[in-house]
Amino acid sequence: SPIPDYLDEVLEDLRSDTGGATAQYIPELAAADPDRLAAAITTTSGATYTAGDVGTEFSIQSISKPFAYAAALMDRGLEKVLSSVGVEPSGEAFNELSLEGGTHRPKNPMINAGAITTHSLLVGRGAAQASRVEHVLDLFSRLAGRTLRVDEEVCASELAEADRNLAIAHMLRTYGVLEDDPHDVVEGYTRQCSILVGVRDLSMMSATLATGGVQPVTGERVMTPEVARQVMAVMAAAGMYDAAGDWLTRVGIPAKSGVAGGMVGVLPDQVGIGTLSPRLDEHGNSRRGSEIFARLSRDMGMHLFAPG
Ligand code: GLN
Repeated sequence: SPIPDYLDEVLEDLRSDTGGATAQYIPELAAADPDRLAAAITTTSGATYTAGDVGTEFSIQSISKPFAYAAALMDRGLEKVLSSVGVEPSGEAFNELSLEGGTHRPKNPMINAGAITTHSLLVGRGAAQASRVEHVLDLFSRLAGRTLRVDEEVCASELAEADRNLAIAHMLRTYGVLEDDPHDVVEGYTRQCSILVGVRDLSMMSATLATGGVQPVTGERVMTPEVARQVMAVMAAAGMYDAAGDWLTRVGIPAKSGVAGGMVGVLPDQVGIGTLSPRLDEHGNSRRGSEIFARLSRDMGMHLFAPG
């Protein structure tokens, strides 16, 4: 297959781009090696192609959001989840404090307000933090096809400076959107964000969405087609935060970024994609990661709305 050579070429072209910076608000992420660069593509039939630093592990961060949303949908059902978290693009930064007018729901599960609420829905009302974290760790492991773990140092580093997420959680609690203790939920959410992955894990996880819920290597049905559809649609609408519209038109691969520099993308019935490059642009999206996706879209015709 020519795909690995093509992926190597794309990474080589981007190696000299040193624009952007690692996430500065989480000390452990600020100190990450900014030159890491990797990509993986997994097809719906389970073949994986990789290039670059495939052995590098990094915290999943906001890429956990679509997959935790899948877990909440399976645990609580679509109706309950929709009553707490909307599906509209926010057009705002990922850590914005704003909520939907009237209902006070967070606008979508891809911004922090929505993801913190989504985490609180996991397992069941009043569930212990440990059981929620275990639950997402188990689901993410089944999606990746191997046992994943939490990086407690990254988690502690973020929790030491978590005022903004705590503010969001306290605000949600005043409106009754959050039914549990704000501190406990933010801690569990931050632990969920600290799960370690490599690009191959990310491409496997997103390929499982692409198949409609069946892990392409283990063959396990991890979620229903309805849940996979809901997750992919919300990623398309809001995965790239305030750049979501530009992204969907220009690149056309429903995607989700994380502040550690990872990205996932999915094309239904085709592929899951995972990338890593820790330097972020002004929206908090991986700069070279976004460029890898743009190249795939352009060179390989990977666009959701590409005819034929
Ligand atoms: N844990 C991070 C936060 O809550 C995740 C943000 C991100 O990856 N965009 O701020």
